[in-house]
Amino acid sequence: MSVARNLVWRQQAACRGVDSKIFYPLTEEEAQEAKFICAQCTVRKACTEYAMRNYERNGVWGGMTERERRRIFRQRRQSA
Ligand code: SF4
Repeated sequence: MSVARNLVWRQQAACRGVDSKIFYPLTEEEAQEAKFICAQCTVRKACTEYAMRNYERNGVWGGMTERERRRIFRQRRQSA
């Protein structure tokens, strides 16, 4: 599958056109606005998997902060 095809889900992202700064909060509390948008996003699962596969270190992806993704990543590693 081509890279472009892999990223088709981005065209349906609820965050399209939204100020990207919202998705790079400095604190967990500041992440609430991004999480609210993600909660309404129809491609949340694809976004989450993209972030996990690419070890995205910064920002809110799939409604999760970096800290929350690290936790999921550790759980996956332990159950593998
Ligand atoms: S889940 Fe959140 S960050 Fe991911 S595409 Fe949807 S709105 Fe954007």
